[in-house]
Amino acid sequence: MGKIVQLPDDLSNKIAAGEVVERPASVVKELLENSVDANSQWIKIELEEAGLRSIKVIDDGDGIEPDDCEKAFFRHATSKIIDEFDLFRVKTLGFRGEALASIASVSQLTLKTSTGHQSGTEIVVHGGKIQDIQKHTKRKGTEISVENLFYNTPARLKYLKTIHTELGHITDTINKMALSHPNIRFECYHNGKRIFFTPGNGNLLQVIQQIYGKKIAQNMVNIENDSLDYNVKGYIAKPEITRSNRNFISLIVNGRFIKNPAINKAILDGYHTFLPIGRYPIVVLQMNMDPYLVDVNVHPAKTEVRFSKEKELFEIVKQTVYDALHKQTLIPSGAKIEKPKSEQTVLSFDPLDYKNKQKEEREHLEDLNHGFKVNEVFNDPSPKRELIQENHQSAIENTKNPEEPNFTEAEEESVVEERMPVMYPIGQLHGTYILAQNDKGLYMIDQHAAQERIKYEYFKKKLGNPVNEVQELSVPLNFEFTSKESIIIEENKETFERVGLFLENFGDYSYIVRAYPSWFPEGEEEQIIRDMVDELVDGRNIDIEKIREEAAILMSCKRSIKANHYLNHQEMDYLLNELRTCQDPFTCPHGRPIVIHFSEYELQRMFKRIM
Ligand code: ADP
Ligand code: MG
Repeated sequence: MGKIVQLPDDLSNKIAAGEVVERPASVVKELLENSVDANSQWIKIELEEAGLRSIKVIDDGDGIEPDDCEKAFFRHATSKIIDEFDLFRVKTLGFRGEALASIASVSQLTLKTSTGHQSGTEIVVHGGKIQDIQKHTKRKGTEISVENLFYNTPARLKYLKTIHTELGHITDTINKMALSHPNIRFECYHNGKRIFFTPGNGNLLQVIQQIYGKKIAQNMVNIENDSLDYNVKGYIAKPEITRSNRNFISLIVNGRFIKNPAINKAILDGYHTFLPIGRYPIVVLQMNMDPYLVDVNVHPAKTEVRFSKEKELFEIVKQTVYDALHKQTLIPSGAKIEKPKSEQTVLSFDPLDYKNKQKEEREHLEDLNHGFKVNEVFNDPSPKRELIQENHQSAIENTKNPEEPNFTEAEEESVVEERMPVMYPIGQLHGTYILAQNDKGLYMIDQHAAQERIKYEYFKKKLGNPVNEVQELSVPLNFEFTSKESIIIEENKETFERVGLFLENFGDYSYIVRAYPSWFPEGEEEQIIRDMVDELVDGRNIDIEKIREEAAILMSCKRSIKANHYLNHQEMDYLLNELRTCQDPFTCPHGRPIVIHFSEYELQRMFKRIM
């Protein structure tokens, strides 16, 4: 007798729930997606105990017709696609018809809904089984409450983390939704307290302020660009504000929050030398395109997508970021260089911050010998907790007034015709920093960084056309390679010659080099040639762009004045003027700032001449 059986629906729903419903935040994500798909303009989320006790999502969307209410809980039941044609042109966030069936199979769920035309429906489902169906009021919209999540799958419960972590994931989910839908008004309450709010007036910068705080919002640069197939827009942070990981890069494709390493890279390439090594920007990037150019049916959580014209998209993203930064004056203020408070709030995006905060609070609680009961944690009266509440409150207050003048100021200020102002040297500090002034205040310039930038741009230009500039050597360089290396050299002779490097075989595996490109940094020639051969041996192509870039950085660093080198007035003047002619005069090739500014106003404030 055969052993294969068809699984009953409730069991297969539970299995699907394992993929779709990992934790309370996944429920919130799915419910919010449904509300967005139903054209809601207002969505309210009410959580009890980080969603473990209850998650309620209320919207003012289209609602569900009475006849459809039961069907909504069937697996693969959806109103969003009908055929294969739709599947390749998905315009909604949901389309797999799995969420409600999955969520209902692992919780106690109540759905109240009406289209506003006829009386509504209330339906109760426990563990996937319909308990009760009744008529409900006519209020247009839907309310779904999910209680006691995972009550019938105890194994799942075990994987849940502390209440802080779970609430962290939920706020992260809501933040993402709010960033991708600035037109929708979001409100979130946790244990009766409002913890998040967006005005829903379409202003993305206000949503950014809500999530990251005012300081960051004021340091964001607006971007927008179109290509034949794509429209990209959003905000990118000035490079003076960076983070230690990529979690602050938000990618949104047709209103869907996605992950995509290649687009991350395009953004980072756009920032190029503006970012210090190992630091990442804050970016909210909305990419809009014809739905047929993107396949969203790659993963059950729908966060991974595939693009059909990838190259074009990456190019426009990179170029847009690059162009925007090159229109900016990017001198950080000496008075502003501090960790923004908002980074410390619970609504932060940074899971690392989160973990640390959690650990801190856990330790704090353990110190006080508290247990881990949910309510205790959230009613924790410690000053730290109060600070967080306060920050939220003030952030919320800020969006209460949509006429907030700071937004326009922040945007206007950032567009200045002259990017690097004329600065007049006052003197030198510790043989390392040039102090300079003009009518806008005081400047401190890192002389080494400034010269590195000047030299870097000079060498980069010089390296622009390497083939034409070949250096003939009176005494040739000698190389001994292995047999494998020599085979590879012979195979790639043309590649070498194309970049101006001529390797002549000299019997066995010996080679001489009589000429090499003049852009090779002095003293580094042998090393570069060996590196090139190594790259080929490792099966990589010679990335001449990269080698030239590295050579330019190396040369600029080697030939720049170091710290502890005294400059006279004329030399300082010369350096500052040269800096002004640079294309990117604000950061050295390693992304460190060159100039720091203290405005007249900031100085007056620091000396309490004004309060
Ligand atoms: P999907 O979103 O993939 O279609 P779901 O299981 O999430 O699948 O939802 C099933 C169906 O229930 C949806 O296609 C939609 O018709 C209906 N629905 C769910 N939530 C809402 C809501 N908040 N407002 C209106 N209709 C909804
Ligand atoms: Mg859905």
